[in-house]
Amino acid sequence: MNTFNVIIIGGGAAGFFTAINVAKQNPDLKVAVLEKAKTGLQKVKISGGGRCNVTHAEFIPQELVTNYPRGEKELLGPFHQFMTGDTMAWFEERGVALKIEDDGRMFPESNSSQTIIDCFLKEAEKYKVEVIYSSGVLNIEKHDNAWVLQTKTEAFYAEKIVVATGSSVKMWDILKTLNHTIINPVPSLFTFNVTDKRIKNIPGVAVQNVTVKVLNTNLESTGPLLVTHVGFSAPSILKLSAFGAVELAEMNYDFDIEINFIQQEFNQCLDVLKQLKQELAKKTVFKFAQFGIPKRLWQKLVLASKIEESKTWADINKTQLENLATQLTKAVFQVKGKSTFKDEFVTAGGVDLKEINFKTFESKLHKNLFFAGEVLNIDAITGGFNFQNAWTSGFIAARSIAD
Ligand SMILES: Cc1cc2nc3c(=O)[nH]c(=O)nc-3n(C[C@H](O)[C@H](O)[C@H](O)COP(=O)(O)OP(=O)(O)OC[C@H]3O[C@@H](n4cnc5c(N)ncnc54)[C@H](O)[C@@H]3O)c2cc1C
Repeated sequence: MNTFNVIIIGGGAAGFFTAINVAKQNPDLKVAVLEKAKTGLQKVKISGGGRCNVTHAEFIPQELVTNYPRGEKELLGPFHQFMTGDTMAWFEERGVALKIEDDGRMFPESNSSQTIIDCFLKEAEKYKVEVIYSSGVLNIEKHDNAWVLQTKTEAFYAEKIVVATGSSVKMWDILKTLNHTIINPVPSLFTFNVTDKRIKNIPGVAVQNVTVKVLNTNLESTGPLLVTHVGFSAPSILKLSAFGAVELAEMNYDFDIEINFIQQEFNQCLDVLKQLKQELAKKTVFKFAQFGIPKRLWQKLVLASKIEESKTWADINKTQLENLATQLTKAVFQVKGKSTFKDEFVTAGGVDLKEINFKTFESKLHKNLFFAGEVLNIDAITGGFNFQNAWTSGFIAARSIAD
């Protein structure tokens, strides 16, 4: 019989985590996962470049939430219930040791996402979770006290269901038929496409700490910047892409950014340049990079300031000094389009958070309908935070169901 106490729709990170925790916490419940594809956990497999960045070494809920452009306010309570440290403990109790890298990202010690997949499959089997593949749910209806889930070939029945289908547009359409509001999905976590002489032929050049502003908006971020073959990447850009996901989509990914490469104000920079003019009078400006800027980028900025290669500091005039200060502290670049970042991306948008009870992850509109993971209008910057949302929401939904 296709009748279960609990059915989880979607066998991804959030779905497996929910199913295992329900079944473990209440062995009396008959639990199934319906997965549309022939195998589950496909994103886990490719995540973190095949290493799976499971979570992040940030152990203060108030700090952790700042990494979520959507979900910051709502996740604070849930993180007090199930935090990054709980994720570590959960995996370690099951023999999966995690390691912390210098930037705080956490990976399985094996450096292989397969370790996480193997752990989930083993746990699902141990707690008798029935995982049914090639079973995409096409419709959800409530009949009396049971949920009826229709796939292509059969119907499934359950008292409680969890929707953990990630960013599936089809499922969002189904949820609309249940009167849930879906916040328009747009991409998040992308790099900026820029064609500009100042960064031509210098891919791989990185600056440790820059400030990037999107002109005519309040979007601003600070962090490392990387020149790529097609524009700019690295955390300063990815943060803007996440926090500005909706605004930048509205601008059709056509906007200007202003970069401060040296974390100094224009006037402050100009004073330093005047000083350099005195101190380095006989040296060529082009040859010797200043302010810790990589030489190849410095040379591009010098040329953009209309200072010829052969000129010494003594040669350059006031306008050229001002040009250089402008290039260093407020260089404007035109962004036209976006690219994916190392294939990692998430979707901003999903089920409206106003319709969710964050103590249980249950729908406020329908009893016994729960959500976990990216199906909700929650997403984070890169670094393991997106999976942490899957673990936290899955764990709390599971606990509410199992109780
Ligand atoms: C290339 C890449 C790398 C990433 N790396 C990282 C990383 O290292 N760290 C990190 O924190 N985040 C990473 N992310 C983001 C992370 O993968 C997602 O946030 C996370 O997978 C969301 O989990 P989920 O279970 O909500 O959704 P998903 O993992 O997308 O799972 C949803 C599942 O539901 C199934 N499904 C959909 N519709 C139906 C249906 N109608 N019926 C039945 N099943 C259905 C899908 O087939 C899928 O298996 C990465 C994303 C990408 C694309």
